[in-house]
Amino acid sequence: MTDRATPPMKALYQQLILDHYRNPRNRGELEEDGSTVEIHVRNPTCGDEIRLQLRVEEDRIQDIKFLGDGCSISQAAVSMMTTILKGKELDEAFGVTRRFTGMMHGDEEAARDPALGNLRSLAGVSRFPVRVKCALLGFEALQEAMKKSRSREEG
Ligand code: ZN
Repeated sequence: MTDRATPPMKALYQQLILDHYRNPRNRGELEEDGSTVEIHVRNPTCGDEIRLQLRVEEDRIQDIKFLGDGCSISQAAVSMMTTILKGKELDEAFGVTRRFTGMMHGDEEAARDPALGNLRSLAGVSRFPVRVKCALLGFEALQEAMKKSRSREEG
């Protein structure tokens, strides 16, 4: 049995999502330098777009910014993602990505992981398969950006 969020909790979650949608955190552009990578992703089903920039130094996300357009789920999710990942090591960021992806596919244990912070407010989205893509879009960009950054450091 799922333990559904009680109504006041649900309202709180909706407020959090709206707050990040209306006042996105880390929105903007980084100054390009040798340690910056950029990825642009789209979700044509919904019309969401995200351009994500990371500055990675010594396997750590020193800075992260995005520009985007689209539905509240996609934009709130990427905004929350940036607040959690700023300053994190790449391995931790991959871990958060795995947990969030698990939560979006209905993993209830993942949904209780405090490492997900505000992103847990999006747990209810997992019941709407069409919106799952919206929620995961920022993480899709993140994974591509981290791979790009790693292959460049190794190459
Ligand atoms: Zn969307």
